[in-house]
Amino acid sequence: MRKYIKRLFALLAALCLAGSLAACGSPKSYTADIFAMDTVMKLTAYGPSAETAVNAAAKEINRLEAQLSNTIATSEISQLNAGSGGTVSEETASLLSAALTYAQMTDGAFDMTIAPVVAAWGITTDNPQVPTQAEIDALLPLVGSGHVSLSGTAVTLDVGCSVDLGGIAKGYASDRIAAVFKENGVTSGVISLGGNVYACGMKSKKEGWRVAIQDPQNSAGYAALVTLSDQFAVTSGGYQRYFTGEDGTVYQHIIDPATGYPVQGDLTSVTIIGTNGTMCDAYSTALYVMGLDKATAYWRSHSDDFDMVLITADGRVLYTPGLADNLESVEGSSYAYAAIG
Ligand code: ADP
Ligand code: MG
Repeated sequence: MRKYIKRLFALLAALCLAGSLAACGSPKSYTADIFAMDTVMKLTAYGPSAETAVNAAAKEINRLEAQLSNTIATSEISQLNAGSGGTVSEETASLLSAALTYAQMTDGAFDMTIAPVVAAWGITTDNPQVPTQAEIDALLPLVGSGHVSLSGTAVTLDVGCSVDLGGIAKGYASDRIAAVFKENGVTSGVISLGGNVYACGMKSKKEGWRVAIQDPQNSAGYAALVTLSDQFAVTSGGYQRYFTGEDGTVYQHIIDPATGYPVQGDLTSVTIIGTNGTMCDAYSTALYVMGLDKATAYWRSHSDDFDMVLITADGRVLYTPGLADNLESVEGSSYAYAAIG
């Protein structure tokens, strides 16, 4: 089924690419819809180099997927996991290093060594399943940054351990696209890599990019709009990828490394807004794991680094004061909107 959807999407994307160059008028824009990293992505740039920049960005995403994916057997990460270590490229080493830093900073709420547990649940595969408590108990000792040793480009993983960059790779890809846009002279554009948005410059002389934060309760609606310029906005939520167990329980794809179970907390989505896509991606996953109180406390001690929008299971949209002038509520929404003091 997944393969079929992918193929159908590839066909649609090819058609979209063919017709997406703005026919006339200025500014000229170019859009590509692609499917990569198991996600539907949309890349748009404005200006004379829009087409070149978007094509280079799409190529960059494919390059990163081939290098960082857990499901492509030839990727550096798959090879590392298969061989319990090895030598990686400088780029992969520095992303692994960043992931270790974020694990340390978030007290293990973001932890790429969650991989064996993610595999046991199989949530992003065609055959998700609920592991037994005994299986989870056997896997939890394999989780923790202490199992990874990184020295330059040499990596060693303890026996049975593996890493999964799924919680950070799209954020890193968005940082790389920002660089590709810059190299190509693009000063206006917006990209969306499935919940990872990068707003390049402004939409027009007066307006930034208005980015919708999806309503976790309603896939067709949004819960708020934020206006961004030269910023990243990354959302993690349980509603994006999940499966329903035989008893009707919904299991989503973000695992609490402390328990080995999919998070069932008091947040339904976390959006992190900042100027570093990799950081925003790691934090969106981590703060979703933390839940409302810890996430708020984390922001208080790192408030210079990011803004955030939290959507709670009890129907509140909470945003940091830095967003007060940039966040729009949705008219008629059932959400209660409030700034975090
Ligand atoms: P998405 O990839 O859907 O945008 P996230 O950025 O939150 O969402 O990443 C979720 C992915 O990260 C999961 O599919 C899994 O591969 C991995 N993951 C799950 N739980 C964690 C965790 N606690 N820390 C780090 N990575 C995780
Ligand atoms: Mg993430």
